[in-house]
Amino acid sequence: MSFVPTLCLECWRVHLASIAQAQAGEIACKSCGAEARIVPGCSFPEAEKEAFEELSGIVAEGSITPTEGRSLAVEIERALGSGSYRSLLATLSVRLPGLLPHEVAAGKNAGAQRRILAKLKTVFEALGTARRVSAEYPILADSPSRRAGRS
Ligand SMILES: [Zn+2]
Repeated sequence: MSFVPTLCLECWRVHLASIAQAQAGEIACKSCGAEARIVPGCSFPEAEKEAFEELSGIVAEGSITPTEGRSLAVEIERALGSGSYRSLLATLSVRLPGLLPHEVAAGKNAGAQRRILAKLKTVFEALGTARRVSAEYPILADSPSRRAGRS
């Protein structure tokens, strides 16, 4: 079974949903239960699901904004193209301390490094598809206070 990434517009978490769930159109966020939407692009086999969810959780702890997500996805794209993963992984581990054990576990294994970066890229891209209403406060992007300013 394959899984596709979904983005929750309430809590901004990226989770994987099965293709069957996606086709049925019933995707609820696993974190908050709100409606999540499918992020088109790629899919992952069941074997990678757990690692994906873990990395997505680490990204969530870092409160990455849509703008930051987009630029990080571009950086990863570049690194994946160049075949040099290690320095970017080290940089990301500074921004997202939860990544450090994964970076250490991957060690010098380029394949393992690549798998981590490929999943992170999907998560960052998913976050990047969120509306760019506010780059500073992703969770409050649709806050009514923005509109309540001057009347
Ligand atoms: Zn949610």
